[in-house]
Amino acid sequence: LAVARYVGRFAPSPTGPLHVGSVVAALASWLDARAAAAQGVASTWLVRIEDVDAQRCSLAWAHTVLKQLDALGLQADGAVQWQSGRSALYAQALQYLQQTQRTYACRCTRKEIEQAWALRGVQRQRFQTLIYPGTCRHEAYVEPVRAWRFDVQGNEGAPRALSSHAVAWSDRRLGPQMQDVVADVGDYVLQRADGMWSYQLACVVDDALQGITHVVRGEDLTDNTARQLLLQEALGAAHPQYLHVPLALDARGEKLSKGNHAPSIDEVSVQHSLLAAAQVLGLPTQVGDEGALVADLLQRWVAAWAALYPLRWV
Ligand code: GLU
Repeated sequence: LAVARYVGRFAPSPTGPLHVGSVVAALASWLDARAAAAQGVASTWLVRIEDVDAQRCSLAWAHTVLKQLDALGLQADGAVQWQSGRSALYAQALQYLQQTQRTYACRCTRKEIEQAWALRGVQRQRFQTLIYPGTCRHEAYVEPVRAWRFDVQGNEGAPRALSSHAVAWSDRRLGPQMQDVVADVGDYVLQRADGMWSYQLACVVDDALQGITHVVRGEDLTDNTARQLLLQEALGAAHPQYLHVPLALDARGEKLSKGNHAPSIDEVSVQHSLLAAAQVLGLPTQVGDEGALVADLLQRWVAAWAALYPLRWV
């Protein structure tokens, strides 16, 4: 008999204040945890500050985000966790992957990676990420080390042809998903030479150590899931369930993000921010909600949530 347990999280990168786009993710993950609790499941909702990138993140923004979450009525059930203080844990995970031969040192610069593909007569770029062609994979000695990469294919069995490493998984909203990580991404970075941990490694280690059972986040992150599933497998960690929620779009239909200067929610009322996020999520809103109590709005949406985004147990 499986004991139903739910641990969810909101994991903002403190590169700016919350905007409507990030409120959608925060509200959705909070509602999912509270809806589980309403169904009698022991449920915890955590906040994790993803501040591994010291260049882009700041302590001041992190405090702003935490204050904003408080104002929105979205309180964490446990202590806030800061990735910047968890380097030793990421190092342990990397060491384990080294011992199990799932990582290798890479000396390639971005330019060299581009050239390697050009030599083969192909352009291999997806979004901002260059697909890694595996140049350093079989090198015995690499100098200088610019990054540690995850060996996606590993050593098991015969060498597989490129483009045969499909990861299949199912999203609670988007349904069946499939990604060939070898062909679409290649061996991805776990740590850079300057010591910076990659989002993939830090996120997977923390989801595992925090016992996260349900990941709820924006649809723009869907593309990372196959990479994270592979890393969980290599680390012997359990796979959470994934739900990727719709993105808030601006008037031109573009994703609202810090990049395109989405306004901070501090410029409008708490109710206004929550209502905008609720509309993106398809939650019921009504005339007069601008003046409603935050607690009442949240309570109504907890009740509506399970029908829109049912929980799934494996
Ligand atoms: N820190 C990531 C972001 O703000 C989210 C990570 C996640 O939810 O997996 O985009």
